[in-house]
Amino acid sequence: MKEFNLDLQMHGLYAGGVSKEMTIPVMAEQSKIKGLDVLVTADILHKNWFQHVKQNLVEESNGTYKDTLGKCNFIIGGEVEDNKRIHHLFYLPSIEAAQELREKFLGKGNLDCILCGRPQLRLTAEEIAERVIEAGGLFGPAHSFTPYTGIFAFYDSLKDAYGEMHKHLQFIELGLSADTDIADTISENHSYSFLSSSDAHSPWPHRIGREFNKIKMSNPNFKELKKALTEKEEKMITMNVGLNPKEGKYHCTACNSCFAKYSLEQAEKNKWKCTMCKGQIKRGVRDRIKILADTEPGIHPKFRPPYVHSLPLAEIIQQTLKVKGINTKKVQQKWKEFTSHFENEIYVLTVAKKEELDEVDPLIASKIIAFRNGWVHYIPGGGGDYGKPIICDSKAEFEKKKIEFKNEIEGISDHIVQTKIKNY
Ligand SMILES: [Zn+2]
Ligand SMILES: [Zn+2]
Repeated sequence: MKEFNLDLQMHGLYAGGVSKEMTIPVMAEQSKIKGLDVLVTADILHKNWFQHVKQNLVEESNGTYKDTLGKCNFIIGGEVEDNKRIHHLFYLPSIEAAQELREKFLGKGNLDCILCGRPQLRLTAEEIAERVIEAGGLFGPAHSFTPYTGIFAFYDSLKDAYGEMHKHLQFIELGLSADTDIADTISENHSYSFLSSSDAHSPWPHRIGREFNKIKMSNPNFKELKKALTEKEEKMITMNVGLNPKEGKYHCTACNSCFAKYSLEQAEKNKWKCTMCKGQIKRGVRDRIKILADTEPGIHPKFRPPYVHSLPLAEIIQQTLKVKGINTKKVQQKWKEFTSHFENEIYVLTVAKKEELDEVDPLIASKIIAFRNGWVHYIPGGGGDYGKPIICDSKAEFEKKKIEFKNEIEGISDHIVQTKIKNY
């Protein structure tokens, strides 16, 4: 058995808002630089993308798919949208099974329109689950807690959402706005494996693999993935890795237009209208889960692996150099120096020793170590605005900033603080 890094959610170039560079060869090449061993093919039900995948993958005798240059392994799968606009993920044993599933969905919705990398189906969650399971696939909700298209935005439980089919789901995908600690406060979720995935729309290493799973497998193929998700007591999933949920753009309850944050009580009192700009307030993942939670945080099923918070290397470099964007020349140059000096980005972030990192850049090396030490505060996201990490250089600075940015870290906007003062 070997440990593999798998990113099992992203989109191909035919889906809406996706980079034209999102092709199998580029995905495979970039996965190597990132340190990922297995990617999902994504969008396998789309006619043109299916042809692209078929031309660019080769199947080995043990059922493992690789790109033609053998840089990365692929699992056949994708995302679908149901009649309530909720998103679900599926994984399939073979290209042939994808063809079979496509036939089951023909006439049931939009499969090949311009934005249909993710098919829009006129079927319920339960009806889709039935068809995927019939095709021998694995099925579960995508980014389950997000307010627009996550299952928990519409339903209080998986049983409500999938009916009897909830017993046949193999996983819950957490999405960027949730982690294991948050998701396990709902006790029903203790019956399922968790997946953490990037949902990348471009192939660059600050997108692919920003969330991934470490799984022990004999071969990086569907059969072993199925085993890892269903035979949970074998503990084949050894780690979920991803952003701190506070970085997710729907973590706090906040205004859609000006991103002012609100407590649930304030939002209800204001009838979900922003007092700053009259925009609409959107309920955040933090508050949605608070409503659904029925266990204390920190209680997990025995098989649950640790969830490790991570950050793309380019973002750590950007913070160190104090420049505007991660696509600036300076950041990209340093990122290249690190990723060419070491095996890959995940190695730089999680394994390389301080002395080794110092050889490339001691200042950035210190920030990487500070991040690993957990000297990070987050100004949480909300209303569609991503959260922002503040990486401190020492424990002392971490404690100082905790006081300095108290309100921001707790997700309280200035205007709320002022309103509170007025109320007293
Ligand atoms: Zn989605
Ligand atoms: Zn507003």
